[in-house]
Amino acid sequence: MQTLYITHPSCRLHEMGPSHPECPERLDAINDQLLASGVLGFMDERQAVAASRADLLRMHTPQYLDYLRAHSPLGAGAYFALDPDTLMNSHTLDAARLAAGAGLMAVDAIMRGEASTAFCSVRPPGHHARPGLAMGFCIFNNLAVAVAYALDHYALTRVAIIDFDVHHGNGTEEMFAGDDRVLMCSFFQHPFYPYCGVGQAAENMLNIPVAAYTSGASLRQVMSDVWMPRLRAFEPEFIFVSAGFDAHREDDMGQLGMVESDYAWMTQQIVGLADKTAQGRIISFLEGGYNLSALGRSVVAHIKALAKL
Ligand SMILES: [Zn+2]
Repeated sequence: MQTLYITHPSCRLHEMGPSHPECPERLDAINDQLLASGVLGFMDERQAVAASRADLLRMHTPQYLDYLRAHSPLGAGAYFALDPDTLMNSHTLDAARLAAGAGLMAVDAIMRGEASTAFCSVRPPGHHARPGLAMGFCIFNNLAVAVAYALDHYALTRVAIIDFDVHHGNGTEEMFAGDDRVLMCSFFQHPFYPYCGVGQAAENMLNIPVAAYTSGASLRQVMSDVWMPRLRAFEPEFIFVSAGFDAHREDDMGQLGMVESDYAWMTQQIVGLADKTAQGRIISFLEGGYNLSALGRSVVAHIKALAKL
């Protein structure tokens, strides 16, 4: 079965001003590298459908959804700042609903048996978004909205979340801390934005803060020694990945030492586990990754492993 590649042209229309690192060209860099490498030809490409208000309300508050709608700017060149780093233009709300909808589409397609793996090439990203607050370039928590939908609709009892972005996925942690149906494993540079995640928020949160300049080899060690034993014991029925590529050594947003072969290796571990316990079911969401060349190359390595190419 082919890996799903879910995206939407409107995800390019959200932009937060010139020189903002979370830019539309990120999606072009990914698409270009997938095309040039030949990987795109092996994928099942689909256009995302927007998440409904009911779907977003599983993870976000009605007040927040109303606030976003009320402040969505009209017309070209107008912005509304949700926080100093996170802005809305007139297309942002549509893009954010499509980004969240991509995951819902992936859950349904995989549960129907049309595919076993999916990559959602979407923006805005999601893992910092809190129930009632935009944060760190994120509007809706795309992964969390999809996890909540999968738990609700398909009566799953054990879902794993793996977050290898350079930043702590504070929004996802807040949404699932204490929910025994979910095990979240993450590493992240510390001390670093968003300056939390150290110490265990709950039994089901496995956070591994690492120092700046930690190498890819050491991060592999974290995965094999700390995450994998917990994940194997948990026996997830579905695995969701917050795939940020800003831990790449060429990405100036962070100071970790991942390279393409590390992303490939980590993805292979995830695929191996999914094949054992989850009927191969994996959905990966684009989070960070701001060096366009490194981002495109790393996503190719990630998808090659996801699709077993
Ligand atoms: Zn990040």
